[in-house]
Amino acid sequence: MKLVFWGTRGSLPMNTPNHRIFGGNTSCVSVQAGDDLIAFDAGSGLVHLGAEMAETGRREIDIFFSHFHADHICGLPFFKPLFNADNTVRLHSFGDDAESLRNALDGYLKDPIFPMGLADFEADLQFINHATDDNLHIGSLSVSALAIPHPGGAHALKATIGKKNFVYATDTEHTPDAPNQALIDFMQAVDLAVYDCTYDDDEFSERRGWGHSTWQEGLRLAAAAKVAKFGIFHHEPERTDDMLLDIETRAREMLAASFVTRDFMRLEI
Ligand SMILES: [Zn+2]
Ligand SMILES: [Zn+2]
Repeated sequence: MKLVFWGTRGSLPMNTPNHRIFGGNTSCVSVQAGDDLIAFDAGSGLVHLGAEMAETGRREIDIFFSHFHADHICGLPFFKPLFNADNTVRLHSFGDDAESLRNALDGYLKDPIFPMGLADFEADLQFINHATDDNLHIGSLSVSALAIPHPGGAHALKATIGKKNFVYATDTEHTPDAPNQALIDFMQAVDLAVYDCTYDDDEFSERRGWGHSTWQEGLRLAAAAKVAKFGIFHHEPERTDDMLLDIETRAREMLAASFVTRDFMRLEI
């Protein structure tokens, strides 16, 4: 399973001289196994996946959404494969409201917020909603989901091929001293899990109710779930390279197999 972290930032794309190492694109991770390609979320990082697809002549992709907040969909209208009638782009969502993804994008891609709408994309654009407990198959890859606490709801996503597993768990808020057992079960012994590490434990009391978690909580969940590798993800926009390097050093003291995800990082698990 080949992973590319096209965007690892949360909330807002960022670009300053202090965002060079980790990057500033918002959430998007691609997962490839053989010829099968999927992506989790369509933040601004998706634009770069689209450029690579255009370059390699790839004609189809399945994109799964954790939820539809702007930092997770903002790359979509700039996704090159949507502007080619030979392409197929399937957008997948989970939950009770079958039309929620289409409605969210329809509301976002509309005058006066955006000058073009869903009907202007030339690719075959499909919306597919699934029950949260569905287990889906995209070629050799399978994808499952778990509802996690976040304003408006969100889903953690898991990609599996053979015995290899990757969990993508953003955005979510934790309750101090009450670890999310369902998420620990979902992450159990996976090869790699990335998690919403927007804040530090010291900042968290001021940010209760904002829907995000801390890197220390992520490490506690990862330790409880015995994940092989843990990635700090969904960085707060104002986290500079120096701050993230410091977090990585401190995280490794707690859990040696942890690291801070960065834009354009490629990993094979
Ligand atoms: Zn987010
Ligand atoms: Zn969100």
